[in-house]
Amino acid sequence: MIDKFARKINYMRISVTDRCNLRCEYCMPVVGVPKKAHNEILRLEEIESIVVEGINLGIDKVRLTGGEPLVRKGIMGLISNIAKIKGLKDLSLTTNGVLLKKYAKELKDRGLKRVNVSIDSLNDKTYEKITKGGNLKKVLEGIEVAKKAGLTPLKLNVVLMKGINDHEIGDFIELTRNEEIEVRFIELMPIGQASGWSNEYHLPNTAVKERFKELVPIDLENKSIPAKKYRMPSFKGTVGLINPLSECFCDGCNRIRITADGKIKPCLHSNYELDIRELRKEGLSMREILIMSVSEKPEKHSIADKEFKPITRNMHRIGG
Ligand code: SAM
Ligand code: SF4
Repeated sequence: MIDKFARKINYMRISVTDRCNLRCEYCMPVVGVPKKAHNEILRLEEIESIVVEGINLGIDKVRLTGGEPLVRKGIMGLISNIAKIKGLKDLSLTTNGVLLKKYAKELKDRGLKRVNVSIDSLNDKTYEKITKGGNLKKVLEGIEVAKKAGLTPLKLNVVLMKGINDHEIGDFIELTRNEEIEVRFIELMPIGQASGWSNEYHLPNTAVKERFKELVPIDLENKSIPAKKYRMPSFKGTVGLINPLSECFCDGCNRIRITADGKIKPCLHSNYELDIRELRKEGLSMREILIMSVSEKPEKHSIADKEFKPITRNMHRIGG
């Protein structure tokens, strides 16, 4: 699919649940999250049929996310079924890693290619505080099992927060010394839960380059990946910088997002959504809905504008 601005859309991110077994400070409130009824969430067969239609239209990369995708009942069957669809080149999953130790091998056997694991601190206490109770050891063990299972290239997602984890940038970069992993620093975005306090904790990713001047840029020409890649001289792994705020990467945007409650978000930083079930009731086919969603992609986001209205959906209800 090609959008109005000549961008090729070949990447679909699907949130399979809005539930989560952690409560990261910037993503999901500890209390007051209304539980969605099962019938408000897309059924696994619906998700599968959306992927099939997407692939017919040229999607070749699918990422499952959440909430925490590994808490969705039936996720393994869904992965097997999606992995078998002809034309799909890359099937990945973003996870907080809590259940990886238990599931990594099965995920690989079911056809998942790789995982991104979110881990914002390498310090037990800080990790527990950010995630409101998470156990760092479990996640680190899960990462090891995922590597052994071959869910690679493995990427670690780190949301940078000023005064909370920015003193750990060096420790994270150190992880890339002997291993072919990618550590990706993500700028805190003013979305849902985080929109109220992101100004206080937001740290532009330029801080990483300023503090670690030895980082050498690699593959900066690849516009379709939001992460600008760097490497420390002689290190095996890479460092990715995802800078949605300080550097707009909209001209390389290649994706659409599907939420667990069946909305298509043509742009992460817009409140505009298409309601799949409503449009189906009105008689549109899934193919027509996907084409419509791509035609609705804006040229770029406007987060930096003064009039920008923060996104109301919390990230656990979008998928990142
Ligand atoms: N539960 C899984 C996880 O944590 O990896 C998948 C869903 S989570 C919403 C996906 C990604 O979004 C995570 O890497 C998380 O750190 C990131 N995220 C959530 N809220 C964010 C925010 N306000 N700004 C930047 N990244 C955010
Ligand atoms: Fe859960 Fe992931 Fe959001 Fe953390 S970032 S609360 S793990 S969905």
